[in-house]
Amino acid sequence: MIEEIKESIWKVVTDKVGPTVTVIGGTHGNELTGIEVVKKLKAQFGAGEIKLSSGTVFLMLGNLKAMEINQRWSGDHRDLNRQFYNERIESEPDGTYEDSRMREMLPILKESDISLDIHSANKPCEPFLCSASSAKHDLVTRWFKAKKIVTDPNYVLGGQAVATDEYVDLQGGVGVCYETGLATDTSRIDEVIVDILNVLRDQGMINDGVVLPDITQNETYELVEAIVLTEDGFEYKIEGGSFTPFVAGEIVGIHGDGKEIKPDFDGVIIFPKPKDHWVSGLPIGYLAKII
Ligand SMILES: [Zn+2]
Repeated sequence: MIEEIKESIWKVVTDKVGPTVTVIGGTHGNELTGIEVVKKLKAQFGAGEIKLSSGTVFLMLGNLKAMEINQRWSGDHRDLNRQFYNERIESEPDGTYEDSRMREMLPILKESDISLDIHSANKPCEPFLCSASSAKHDLVTRWFKAKKIVTDPNYVLGGQAVATDEYVDLQGGVGVCYETGLATDTSRIDEVIVDILNVLRDQGMINDGVVLPDITQNETYELVEAIVLTEDGFEYKIEGGSFTPFVAGEIVGIHGDGKEIKPDFDGVIIFPKPKDHWVSGLPIGYLAKII
């Protein structure tokens, strides 16, 4: 049985006890793959094409107002995937749409054993996972086609736990964000659904006789530092999407005041933001190393 419990949040329940798995799309409104994944799963559960044999699945669309305008965020310019931090959660609502939506999503994430938040990038890149590196996370991430995993044990991304996956991790669950490639590329929708169904099969929540695929080895990267834009501007000396490599001593970019970003390790650039998303005082990209 599937029912909409809040606007664009659906619950699929069974009468048999089992894990709670939440699938999220549209946390950023212009990232179409996740939105379609959630809509398709909702239709398939609704039509009985997929049958849950135990546990609970939540299907959730994130930033509905941003989706309406096909933008990363709503007119309030708040990043929904940076709202899941304790100080924000414990403060009074600030009147922005993203704050109120975060509060609607929160109780569902809190009870999730596993959350799968489907994203995509604003520059071309191969699919990759954002996930903590642990045995229980590996049990989930192993079913995704992506071979690369980005971990952020030191909270370089947001300075503290801010994203859906990080919030779920802090509640004792397994939070994963999946970056499926370029935001306008919707060619991986069905592939992502297969990966998600394999997670549910592995958890014993779907018994449809489908044999799980072989597991392949992942490559893990760790975020080391953020490149934060200053008033003086910045110029990348290495252009490209996530996983564009650099070698130790190479100049990745130069701040407007002449200060060079010259890492002393071999690594890759992660989440380089297109220039129209640059905001002074905020990160415009990250450096990661392979571990
Ligand atoms: Zn995103």
